Amino acid sequence: MVSRVIPVGPFDLVIFGATGDLARRKILPGLFHRFQVGQMPDEARIIGSARSPMSQAGFRDMAGAAIRQYVPEADQAGSRLAQFLERLDYVAVDASGDGGWPELAGKLRPEAIRAFYLSVSPSLFGVIAGALQRAGMNTAESRIVVEKPFGHDLASAEALNAGLRHCFEEHQIYRIDHYLGKETVQNLMVLRFANSLYEPLWNSTHIDHVQITVAESVGVQGRGEYYDQAGAMRDMVQNHLIQLLCLTAMEPPSKFTPDAVRNEKVKVIHALEPVPSQDIVRGQYRAGGGMDSYRDHAGNPDSTTESFIALKVSIANWRWAGTPFYLRTGKRLRERVSEITVVFRDPPRMIFQGAQNLRGNALIIRLQPDEGITLRTTIKDPGPGGMRLTEVALDMSFADALGPEVRTQDAYERLIMDVIRGDQTLFMRGDEAEAAWAWADPIIAGWQDTQGVPDAYDPGGSGPEDALMLLHRDGRRWRGIGEK
Ligand code: NAP
Repeated sequence: MVSRVIPVGPFDLVIFGATGDLARRKILPGLFHRFQVGQMPDEARIIGSARSPMSQAGFRDMAGAAIRQYVPEADQAGSRLAQFLERLDYVAVDASGDGGWPELAGKLRPEAIRAFYLSVSPSLFGVIAGALQRAGMNTAESRIVVEKPFGHDLASAEALNAGLRHCFEEHQIYRIDHYLGKETVQNLMVLRFANSLYEPLWNSTHIDHVQITVAESVGVQGRGEYYDQAGAMRDMVQNHLIQLLCLTAMEPPSKFTPDAVRNEKVKVIHALEPVPSQDIVRGQYRAGGGMDSYRDHAGNPDSTTESFIALKVSIANWRWAGTPFYLRTGKRLRERVSEITVVFRDPPRMIFQGAQNLRGNALIIRLQPDEGITLRTTIKDPGPGGMRLTEVALDMSFADALGPEVRTQDAYERLIMDVIRGDQTLFMRGDEAEAAWAWADPIIAGWQDTQGVPDAYDPGGSGPEDALMLLHRDGRRWRGIGEK
């Protein structure tokens, strides 16, 4: 197959938190993939940094072990790991201290693109930005990348933005939401704006409702302490699900530039209605099937944090008035699935008998596990017996359609290369993050004021019964989690 990789220019990438979980599981393996396929130029350098003292050789050993552990074996075939590791260097820096900064500055080349990836606690974002500025490392060709969570509420997001903008311009700041780096998420924009088929139908006249489900089969073990302070609303809805909603609901941008796209997304967030308490269902998984409960995992026997949430969301604009968006996300559910289901209205008059139990047309955009698109279509049930109707899935799995040799990039790989290229399209702008918090804060305050307790749900299912009722009471039903 002809390579479709477009090489990027020479760069120095500094990873703060380079010994941490995210760097080892995602960032370093992602960079290795890009090196393997030839996207990374020979002049690229990756400089790891953390407080722990470590030699260059020690960091290369650590990175090599992480890559062997987290890169699938098939992708290591013909590995150029040794050549990749030669690009790695390490400088110990305590972000909140003075030591190490001059040494780090000395490693950077004046002419190369610079990216500072802050894979550390958000409390260090402003501190590191300030130190980079003071040490003269923020050149015109510098970018700064920050990980989620971007704030805990509007006030903290504003403070993070202020800390970053004090030293870096908005066009230099890349706020990662790795959902935006997924192949299918970008395909959602192509599907909508490069095909003439969908746009005439993409409104409340033809779309009955939209479902966005991000289900995980794992619990919060290992990150229970953090999660208990956040909950599903902060951890997933305010960022990932709202981003998916924006891409589904936004108006066509006038051009495909970062700000044109992000302007349209922000307009959607500003149009979100407040969500009344009767349109919110919160849940918490109980113990079951030999597995511990949420409260065990969180180490908090009285926790009222939700590990599941479902909401009915309305968008107050002409396109979507009367078409609700149902969002749901949770831990310890039946399967790990992320998908957007666009459910079309029924034909104005059904002339065939026996169509009552059919669900009608739906476009299902699968983000994971098997990225692809399905169009649920009504057909005649084949064979004798008159005009019986049934539903079939017109199914397009990317892996099947494009061939196994087209490896779907991991979101992190794509996003890091976008940073180097200076393309902010798939990153949240500061006002976007703040607008999402401004919408989420009163919702969270609502259950905090009433000291609401989430409904317990069994592990391995689809969340609390009331989440099903959220749709049933509107005469609708969720697409099953893991439904084919
Ligand atoms: P982690 O495993 O705890 O690693 C933290 C890293 O930061 C380590 O390399 C640590 O090394 C370094 N560090 C801590 N304090 C420092 C300081 N004062 N100065 C310099 N370096 C310091 O955390 P992580 O899971 O990799 O997560 C990193 C960030 O990404 C967090 O903000 C997290 O919320 C976010 N995130 C993580 C994931 C994930 O899957 N892990 C997913 C999304 C977002 P030393 O102790 O040697 O300094």
